[in-house]
Amino acid sequence: MDFAEIKALDHRYVLQTYGRNDLAIDHGKGATLYDTEGKAYIDFTAGIGVCSLGYANEAWARAIYDQAMKLGHISNLFYAQPYALLASKLVPAAGMAGAFFSNSGAEANEGMIKTARKWSHDHYGPDRSTIITLNRSFHGRTVTTLRATGQDKYHKNFYPFPDGFRHAEANDMDSLLSVAGDDVCAVMLELIQGEGGVNPLNADYVRQVADLCAQRDWLLLIDEVQTGIGRTGTLFCYQQFGVTPDIVSFAKGIAGGLPFGGFLTGEKCRDTLRAGDHGSTFGGNPMASAAGCVVMDTLTPDFLAGVREKGETLRRRIAAIPSPYIAGVRGMGLMVGVGIQNAAHTELRDRLMAAGLLTTCAGPDTIRLLPPLVITDEELERGIQIMEKTLQ
Ligand SMILES: *Cc1c(COP(=O)(O)O)cnc(C)c1O
Repeated sequence: MDFAEIKALDHRYVLQTYGRNDLAIDHGKGATLYDTEGKAYIDFTAGIGVCSLGYANEAWARAIYDQAMKLGHISNLFYAQPYALLASKLVPAAGMAGAFFSNSGAEANEGMIKTARKWSHDHYGPDRSTIITLNRSFHGRTVTTLRATGQDKYHKNFYPFPDGFRHAEANDMDSLLSVAGDDVCAVMLELIQGEGGVNPLNADYVRQVADLCAQRDWLLLIDEVQTGIGRTGTLFCYQQFGVTPDIVSFAKGIAGGLPFGGFLTGEKCRDTLRAGDHGSTFGGNPMASAAGCVVMDTLTPDFLAGVREKGETLRRRIAAIPSPYIAGVRGMGLMVGVGIQNAAHTELRDRLMAAGLLTTCAGPDTIRLLPPLVITDEELERGIQIMEKTLQ
């Protein structure tokens, strides 16, 4: 099928919930994607931070194939090696105590919220269940995670929402304290707000929030759906902030492209959820878990140092472009936000795309770069050169 036919089918039969880029991707190799017309693009999107091992990764594809030929799915009513093996790789590396697997970021956050509420109910009774989240945050599209999301543009049309969330300004302890009450059980935050525009929180603020949580016996919930699994140059971003969450959620990058998410708890909430309290039919699917093991085996200390290095190169080179459009470069590792002025970010994204570089927009005025973590120096260089030419 050519692009026109694919687009016609999509418009005829698919709910038009996405503002799609005007091309159809056919296949990829490494960090390079090819559209249906055969044009090549350097990919600085990785499927929104998902394809950490790039495209057509042999070890990843073989692990999925081998697992599919052995056992493609089994319910969570049985033990199976891939789930246990992936958990054994993740939990110690994160310094946590236990894992639960689901299928997406929103679902991971739902599980994290449920665990926090149950922990609080067990210890303080049912009236202590409010969770404080931050303005400009993004926690997912289910009704509850939308409620947790601190961006009104996602709320309109979907009322009513469940109770039990309150929003505070990021990097502002006074704002947090002003919404704190006896009913609070947890604070939930992204260390770098991804969809909100790649806005890193101040390290001091994060440590103060962690201290406040410890003082008041609130749980610290960190949403690492986007920042986690090597994206920022460490397995989890909190490892660079010097704080340890009580629960951390993850999803996007964990299985390199198969749907997967979950959360890890520390000792405090290790036994909060008991048999029957939570579950997922597909969660921890053997093929996705096998893929997750390949991702985890790839994230060696050397590999993660390479992610930090490539990220520094990317930020340094972009910051040096003499451009009327660039208003600052933010981020950590290979999660980079380029602030845009004097033009719409969507227009510049389209121009970069025409020049052979795929990027995504985030927030009102940011171009977000999330290349596959395995991107080669040559691919990175080509992507940077396209930015230099297009944004001058
Ligand atoms: C993408 C994202 C989510 C939602 O993940 P889905 O898999 O789309 O449900 C939640 N939190 C953060 C920080 C995200 O970046």
